[in-house]
Amino acid sequence: MTYATDPLLRPIEHKVDEGIPLSKEDGLALLQTRDLHALGRMAQRAKERKSGRKVFYVLNRYINSTNVCYANCKFCSFAKGEQEAGAVRMPADDVLAKALETGTNFNQIHIVGGHDPRQLSLDYWLPLMRRFKATLPHVQLSLFTSAEIDYLAKRHRLPYEDILRELRDAGLDNINGGGAEIFSARFRKLVCPNKVDADNWLRVHEVAHSIGIASNATMLYGTVETLEERVDHFIALRESQRRSPGFNAFIPLAFHPDGNQLNDCGWTTGLDDLRMFATARLMLDNFDHIKAYWMIQGLKVCQIALQFGADDMDGTHGSTDEERIYHSAGTSSGQYVDDREFRRLIEEAGYQPVRRNSTYDEFPHDWNPHDATHRGDRAPTREAHGAPAE
Ligand code: SF4
Repeated sequence: MTYATDPLLRPIEHKVDEGIPLSKEDGLALLQTRDLHALGRMAQRAKERKSGRKVFYVLNRYINSTNVCYANCKFCSFAKGEQEAGAVRMPADDVLAKALETGTNFNQIHIVGGHDPRQLSLDYWLPLMRRFKATLPHVQLSLFTSAEIDYLAKRHRLPYEDILRELRDAGLDNINGGGAEIFSARFRKLVCPNKVDADNWLRVHEVAHSIGIASNATMLYGTVETLEERVDHFIALRESQRRSPGFNAFIPLAFHPDGNQLNDCGWTTGLDDLRMFATARLMLDNFDHIKAYWMIQGLKVCQIALQFGADDMDGTHGSTDEERIYHSAGTSSGQYVDDREFRRLIEEAGYQPVRRNSTYDEFPHDWNPHDATHRGDRAPTREAHGAPAE
């Protein structure tokens, strides 16, 4: 059924309903349309074909273990030099203690940090990951971005596969989606010339998927990229997922301008945010989940995003967690959302809240790792959640 008043959307609606992948021209039309209602309905139908009435969230802990980094990405407000005021480098004992600070009833630990020459090494991470798994066997480790994996590979002079096998064997379940920024070589040369390039960002994920590590993907939008570069980024992700499936979710990351070198770009708008959620859902037809991360676009926009193709609100974080990447850049979101609030927002939007882990295994909302009646709901093994066998 055709709802669109924008004539450019009508052939796209037909393709979406027929399951035909969208072209670059389609993506550009989606990112520019003013027919938000038709766009939202299309994305919502595509979402409901994937996950029905379900909208996911995770009880998790979020830790930035170090902000020491010398990559000097222009959009970054988080990185510090080692001797600079505000530099934070957590000893391994403190990272474990932070994760345990408010109990053990959670399903994911999410850790990312800078390219820290002293902390980002296998010597630091492998023992810490084993301690996490011994202490919290029900918790999935969602660690690093592929930019960090690339740094580790260079540092240890090992191929990606060797690094990833070491990390997997120590307990890595999922690689976070950051570091993708915008894949265009023009953009990366201008904005982030010292971090992993696009081909290697994708290569890390594809190798990870091939050995049973899941991952997510992102795009940083709202700086100096063109709309064509955004659409090319979606198409590169879609092709990568075809070559080596294993991306679970895509997360659109809205640029925040405080305290960085791209301050003049200002804030993204609500309409741009909603177009990005919907375009992601429609372009990435082989991704199951589009995440509206409350820390970034805010709880209210993220609730509306559930009508624009998103089916995930990310994690609660712990009540003592201190996210620093977006808080350094000016987010007005808090540090913690109670899972009851997620359920309230999701139900009000007409959907069914579902508690998950990193790999989207589902749990009753009152699941507790120490409750004998729920032991059977423990996170399934790697094979059980569909990761490819070696
Ligand atoms: S975005 Fe990441 S790699 Fe770039 S400067 Fe910031 S912490 Fe370093």
